[in-house]
Amino acid sequence: MNRRNFIGFLGGVSALTVSSKAFAFDLFGLKKSERAMKDFPFKLTDAEWRERLTEEQYRIMRMEGTEPTCSSPLEKESRAGIYHCAGCGQELFSNNHKFESGTGWPSFWDPIRPEAVGTSTDYKIGYARTEVHCSNCGSHLGHVFEDGPPPTGLRYCINGVAMKFFPDKTS
Ligand SMILES: [Zn+2]
Repeated sequence: MNRRNFIGFLGGVSALTVSSKAFAFDLFGLKKSERAMKDFPFKLTDAEWRERLTEEQYRIMRMEGTEPTCSSPLEKESRAGIYHCAGCGQELFSNNHKFESGTGWPSFWDPIRPEAVGTSTDYKIGYARTEVHCSNCGSHLGHVFEDGPPPTGLRYCINGVAMKFFPDKTS
């Protein structure tokens, strides 16, 4: 094999690898989301997630679904306290950043700490939205939009079933 043929051969091999990967995704009918491709500190198998979460939580948190608007009691929750991830328990949001958005979903203008959540781009409904997930276990939480109140101008629109609220003991 001369050098030119050899390089051509290598090119062929890498093209094959790429197309077989694409085929694997197509085969299962799942184009994995950007979130699902990331690696997170808290890991469970799919079976363990199904065991740990309710059916609705699994659909929303692991399959990037959305709960019906006005369905979560946390939307109207106004007590002082902390909202934890329903998947792993990590602190995500605080009542200090919660506001009434009128959307029917619990809404916050900031996470409790910048590193509590991660984001990725999702094209589920045909245009780009910024998906929000727990930075510890990767569970999908909701989306963030740029039409929130000051000081950040952000609106974290979060599924109530993805969170557990713990009111402050003093309140
Ligand atoms: Zn989590």
